[in-house]
Amino acid sequence: MSTSLAYHTQGIIGFQHQSFTFSGGIAIQRLERKEFRCPQCFSPSVKSYFIRTRRIQGLPYGTKPTFFELDIHRIYCSKCRCSSVENLPFTSHPKARITTALERTIIELRPEMTISAISRYFQLDWRIIKACEKRYLTKKFKHIKLKEVRYIGIDEIAIGHDDAGKTAYWTIVRDLDSGAVLHVDRGKDGEALRGFLKRLHRSKAKIELVAMDMGRAFISWVKKHLPLANIVFDHFHVIKLMNEKIDKARRKIAAKLDDNEKEVLKKQRFTLLRNAEDLSEEAIEHLKEIKETFQELADLHMMKEYLRSIYRVATVLPVRK
Ligand SMILES: [Zn+2]
Repeated sequence: MSTSLAYHTQGIIGFQHQSFTFSGGIAIQRLERKEFRCPQCFSPSVKSYFIRTRRIQGLPYGTKPTFFELDIHRIYCSKCRCSSVENLPFTSHPKARITTALERTIIELRPEMTISAISRYFQLDWRIIKACEKRYLTKKFKHIKLKEVRYIGIDEIAIGHDDAGKTAYWTIVRDLDSGAVLHVDRGKDGEALRGFLKRLHRSKAKIELVAMDMGRAFISWVKKHLPLANIVFDHFHVIKLMNEKIDKARRKIAAKLDDNEKEVLKKQRFTLLRNAEDLSEEAIEHLKEIKETFQELADLHMMKEYLRSIYRVATVLPVRK
């Protein structure tokens, strides 16, 4: 019964149930291998020698953390004369401390639960959960196929300083459909995209759209290497630039006012920069006053809201021929 329970609930095949013990709030199921075979030639003519006892955590039986305890052997094959340590087919790698079934469950739960919540639930060290997720993601994203990619986003991020004390950057390319990171390299210009371009050519992907900030380096890179792709300046960078213009105009106007008026306009900085729908009733009144008093700020604010509405209603354009 317990052998088939281990098979059906924990994915453990080829091992015989020996005993169950409960101590210190955990369940320990002792297992023994049914037969030894050479891992190279599968011959049953082998000799086995005990090395040590191992405990592997599996899925809990009920709410009790459950461990499988078994002896690990060195195997000598008389047919192909190889010598090796027996492997455990229900673990994903030789040093695993949990079963593949538990690993799979952790991966399934991760979108719903934090690492620390899973750690508490299974009474499992959070580092094991993190390592398990890392292995899964490494495998999943090892070979990213570019062939089907149509829409990409290119962006640079600052990552501290280089040896010369200058700000260091990484360039990141993402697939805008799946969100997957397609390429990462040092730098913030076309040079950082060299490796990506090679892979792109090899994959024969037809990139239709590239979203980016307004940096010249990436614009000329796209025009040169992806002449059929549309360039889209992303919402965040466009509105940021627009806000900078509004703020510059506000400061210019404030400089010409007397101290009291200047103070009023200074206090209303965020009323002008915040999204119109996020303003309090009081701020809406202030904004109205500012717009009635300063025509230039009224025009700029209206243009910003127009720009935002373009992004709200925009849909993806077909590729330019
Ligand atoms: Zn063999």
